[in-house]
Amino acid sequence: ATPTALMVGTGRGAQLGILIKGPEVLETTRRVDTVVLDKTGTVTTGRMELRDVVAAEGEDEDEVLRLAGALEHASEHPIARAIAAGAAERTGALPAVERFENAAGLGVRGVVEGREVAVGRERLLAESALELPPGLAGARAAAEAEGRTAVAVAWDGKVRGLLAVADAVKDTSAEAITRLRALGLTPVLLTGDNRAVAESVAREVGIDSSGGRVIAEVMPQDKVDVVKRLQDEGRSVAMVGDGVNDAAALAQADLGLAMGTGTDAAIEAGDLTLVRGDLRAAADAIRLARKTLSTIK
Ligand code: ADP
Ligand code: MG
Repeated sequence: ATPTALMVGTGRGAQLGILIKGPEVLETTRRVDTVVLDKTGTVTTGRMELRDVVAAEGEDEDEVLRLAGALEHASEHPIARAIAAGAAERTGALPAVERFENAAGLGVRGVVEGREVAVGRERLLAESALELPPGLAGARAAAEAEGRTAVAVAWDGKVRGLLAVADAVKDTSAEAITRLRALGLTPVLLTGDNRAVAESVAREVGIDSSGGRVIAEVMPQDKVDVVKRLQDEGRSVAMVGDGVNDAAALAQADLGLAMGTGTDAAIEAGDLTLVRGDLRAAADAIRLARKTLSTIK
């Protein structure tokens, strides 16, 4: 009866938009007690839009946006796409980039129209001994309180402005968290993004009110260590992610669930694929796998 039960399980799984890599995955679903959720692209849509453009004193908003947009045009990051699209829309054709460097989890740097431009979080600026002027620090706090991700724009040794982007929480995410909680899993929101933004998203989907945790400002290469640390605490960890920078964490997790809408690297690293990118399928997958197991036993 075992092979039949498995087929039923995976057949129903396919209907629900869940692809399971192998039967050994099922057993793990029984143990998992913690679910780590990547924020961008997993809990949120990952389709960011430019929301605020703020110039430092004496600077011009359009110029801040134009140079930042030109540089971000060379990056694939969701934040970069939002800024490049917003810039092209508002300021027209963007100048070419003469040199470009991506600092993963921090931002981008390069040369545009002969100027040394940097766009990214404060840690990137700090590497060049730059900091936000007080006026922009206030604008950043206001943007982050609304769940927006703020990045600074600097060139030639001075911070010139601030751009805020935001994506929407998927309308299925809150229900997904409720279902995961009902299965006995503690949710943990994990992101490289700012703490204020992460907490705003956690509030919106009910992670904070349900005894969950928020782990923010984590560098891409350190996500795997967060999973290890939770495992060291004796937890059995399911991880849901979509990005290249989630792949190692997905592989480290006891159960890796990849968003089918995400990158190939994530899908390859996961044990399960949620084809439609609907987080509710994570709960469906665990519930279905547990049920399939009890049918076999
Ligand atoms: P996440 O974990 O949410 O997927 P990342 O690790 O990719 O986020 O990025 C972390 C942070 O680094 C971003 O919130 C942003 O502040 C900064 N950052 C990364 N890439 C860029 C970029 N291309 N332009 C500006 N800022 C960036
Ligand atoms: Mg992501």
